[in-house]
Amino acid sequence: MTWSNNWSQYFAQLGDNQAFEQATKQTQQAINQLFQEANAPYSGLEPVQLKAQINAVDFSTPSSLENVIQETNALIAKNSLLVQHPHTIAHLHTPPLIASIVAEHFIAALNQSMDSWDQAPAATFVEQKIVDWLCDIYQLGERADGVFTSGGTQSNLMGLLLARDWFAYQQSQHDVQQNGLPEYSSKMRIICSDKSHFTVQKSASLMGLGERSVVLVKTNVQGKIDTQALQHTIDTLKADGLLPFAVVAMAGTTDHGAIDDLQTVVDIAKAAGCWSHVDGAYGAALQLSEQHKSRLKGIESADSISVDFHKLFYQTISCGALLIKDKANFNTLLHHADYLNREGDELPNLVDKSIATTKRFDALKMFMTLKAVGVKQFGEFYDYLLSLTQQVATKIQQHKHFELCCTPLLSTVLFRLSSEIQGDLSDQQFNQLHQTLRLQLLTSGNAVIAETKVDGKLVLKFTLLSPCLTLSDFDLLLEKIEHSTLALINTK
Ligand SMILES: *Cc1c(COP(=O)(O)O)cnc(C)c1O
Repeated sequence: MTWSNNWSQYFAQLGDNQAFEQATKQTQQAINQLFQEANAPYSGLEPVQLKAQINAVDFSTPSSLENVIQETNALIAKNSLLVQHPHTIAHLHTPPLIASIVAEHFIAALNQSMDSWDQAPAATFVEQKIVDWLCDIYQLGERADGVFTSGGTQSNLMGLLLARDWFAYQQSQHDVQQNGLPEYSSKMRIICSDKSHFTVQKSASLMGLGERSVVLVKTNVQGKIDTQALQHTIDTLKADGLLPFAVVAMAGTTDHGAIDDLQTVVDIAKAAGCWSHVDGAYGAALQLSEQHKSRLKGIESADSISVDFHKLFYQTISCGALLIKDKANFNTLLHHADYLNREGDELPNLVDKSIATTKRFDALKMFMTLKAVGVKQFGEFYDYLLSLTQQVATKIQQHKHFELCCTPLLSTVLFRLSSEIQGDLSDQQFNQLHQTLRLQLLTSGNAVIAETKVDGKLVLKFTLLSPCLTLSDFDLLLEKIEHSTLALINTK
């Protein structure tokens, strides 16, 4: 057998590399053109057709990368959700900063792996520098540390995992890493508000404690945890012989943007011998705003904090971090492998504090962003965004066909169609109308808005993220929604 060795054409090789340069240029040109011509959040191609066209792609005969880029552009990019469009406004799904996108280019081409220093010499120090910067911003103190994660889900899981292991050691010097769950694990409880993110339950399940270990505490009208009820819940659980070990506080609930009274929650947790974790995936970013940072007061006393950079820090997916107040707690994750992170290694191996092994160099995105955009600029983005959200809410309040469901706390607006629109429709038919409306706006490509429930009622939601949005974007959006609503009613 003879090998024809021109395989280097497939790799981003060292040395003169025309194939790589050409493909990169072609891709960038395609994206530029797409962005220039785009005029809707989504192409409007019927989902069944889109699926059929994607399934029809045949891998049996390769074509040139040039063709593949062209076809990818025509089929995939053109039918992608355009997060930059002002009417893509459903989720905590951000348009990324240019600095973050170009950092991705470095990240991809260099392909550093964050587990050990010998795979990521400069990258290891970059990640540690950003982590140190974060610990400083959140004033976590001398013993603080952190690690980059794939996002809020992984950060919440890690925070609760460290809490579980810390508690078992406090309780009975039980080492979960070595011996698995302690015999009292069925009594262990995590406490959070009924507006907390579902990843608290998911974490509990992954941690072997089961979703039943999560106890929900009611929230007040603003969606913040009722701190008296929290204290009462802890007392009752203890009186029943159960073991509350972690309290999760929300710094920005996904729907309402509610920020719990962090200082009180952390104090209650501490007095009860519980770990305090702050889920700051949405709202922890406010720490960079001089105007709004006081709303996070108490975050500096938490045992762990989840921060999500692919939300209000405008980073490409994925990018998040977990910060902890006392780095000694990372020891419960430490496992030495002879081939990777030997005991006594002098150079730092970030795998020592991560649940991942091979890991992306996402920290570069924040590194380049902080240098190119600046910390102060973020504060201005948030001040503008939160004020714009209030103006959008007022606009909805004054509109005869819409009804505001609650005063915005962060950058979401929850609203419904007005009772005038409801007319003779039953509550169920009216809910159905909201659902149909959202789906129709999505599949036609006109607007991407969210649907959720408030007090059992179906409501529509805008999530404002981009500081490039203006009030006039919402005049147009509300017009589109009104127009589609009236068309739906008239065809009934
Ligand atoms: C988005 C979000 C999460 C989950 O984070 P991912 O980055 O999507 O994994 C957790 N908590 C809150 C409050 C969120 O908004």
